[in-house]
Amino acid sequence: MKCKVSGKKIFKFMSFGKMPMANGFLDEKNFKNEFFYNLEVGFCKENYLFQINDHPKSQKIFNNKYPFYTSKSRYMIKHFKNYFNWLKKNYLTTNSRIVEIGSNDGTFINNFKNFNIEHCGFEPSKNVANFSKKRGIKVIPDFFNLKNASNLKKFKYKTDIICAANVISHIPNLNDLIKGIDLLLSKKGVFVFEEPYLGSMLKKISYDQIYDAHVYMFSLLSVRSIFKKFGFDLIDAVPQITHGGSMRYVISRTKTRTVKPRLKKLIQKEINMGMNKIDRYLKFKKDCELSRKNFKKEIENYKNNGKKICGYAAAAKSTTVLNYCGIGRNYIDFIADSTKEKIGKYSPGMHIPIVSIDHFHKNRPDVTVLFSWNHKREILEKEKNFSKNGGKWISHVKK
Ligand code: SAM
Repeated sequence: MKCKVSGKKIFKFMSFGKMPMANGFLDEKNFKNEFFYNLEVGFCKENYLFQINDHPKSQKIFNNKYPFYTSKSRYMIKHFKNYFNWLKKNYLTTNSRIVEIGSNDGTFINNFKNFNIEHCGFEPSKNVANFSKKRGIKVIPDFFNLKNASNLKKFKYKTDIICAANVISHIPNLNDLIKGIDLLLSKKGVFVFEEPYLGSMLKKISYDQIYDAHVYMFSLLSVRSIFKKFGFDLIDAVPQITHGGSMRYVISRTKTRTVKPRLKKLIQKEINMGMNKIDRYLKFKKDCELSRKNFKKEIENYKNNGKKICGYAAAAKSTTVLNYCGIGRNYIDFIADSTKEKIGKYSPGMHIPIVSIDHFHKNRPDVTVLFSWNHKREILEKEKNFSKNGGKWISHVKK
């Protein structure tokens, strides 16, 4: 197993075994042909990079049927408005040009459009890219990479902000990505991106962040080390509560901007947690195994006591939990979700039926596994009648 960035041999510390595609919701007729790959996780000592080994090609994941729309979450719409305001306060000027990588249905970039900022999104999943086009957003319906970035002549060395959220960890070829950023960014430009944070995952034992699309889980140590090789500095970082704990990273060309004092403290925290050492990852492996044992026992206890159990939110993350813990239809009757592309299909690997939220309301279980535990507040508020009537929410994430 080699590091996708340094090319050095990496330390493989965990295997989740055979996994189906996290978003591979399927019809019954396709059960026999379902695609599986080996989900293994490793750590590169050279650049502190946490990564998965064998992952399906990006085109297999991000295509015309990508089932994730940012605008489905009111909370995320608000978050992106705040993210925009933060950029406006710190880095945006009226003449700025901006590029968003992974602009999805346009939720974030729409804020720039409304502010009359010259913008361009890169979005390879055609269904969501078309959705954003209808909102009047300028979007290139393709992957962000060096080749596609070099076609964007007007933005070459003139882009003041390149921004992204929850996409950089999906891009296997980080070296090519950074070369693309280098080509577009102006002299004092910044690259700002947010990703689920490795430190939060280790603390919460939220191993469901690990699946095919998440090729990497970043830390400050890894981001600083990778970008340094290309002549960039990590100049700031701001912890976020989104997606169960994320980090916003700010990158600039080396020595063009001052490094924010809080960065030093955040990096020291990572070192104190041992995130630069392999032992921390071996501990994580043990934590995951114990979490699996306890979660399975919890579900079995409910089942043995005659409780009806269902799932809520067929998020990509649920695929890792269900397949790693071996929880199938023998425990969970159905998973309720609001995405029309998923309803009527079956969950990847475990083949649990996906039903509408309406079905959940009409067939209330006793216990509901909340797979989108990171949207707990929003969902519990929306489904407060379930709790009022004695329904119980559970999740494998306890912290
Ligand atoms: N940024 C949005 C958000 O945070 O809600 C969407 C995140 S979604 C998890 C990831 C998005 O990145 C998808 O819409 C996907 O199609 C897109 N994507 C994946 N690889 C990409 C690449 N190389 N360049 C640009 N977008 C990419």
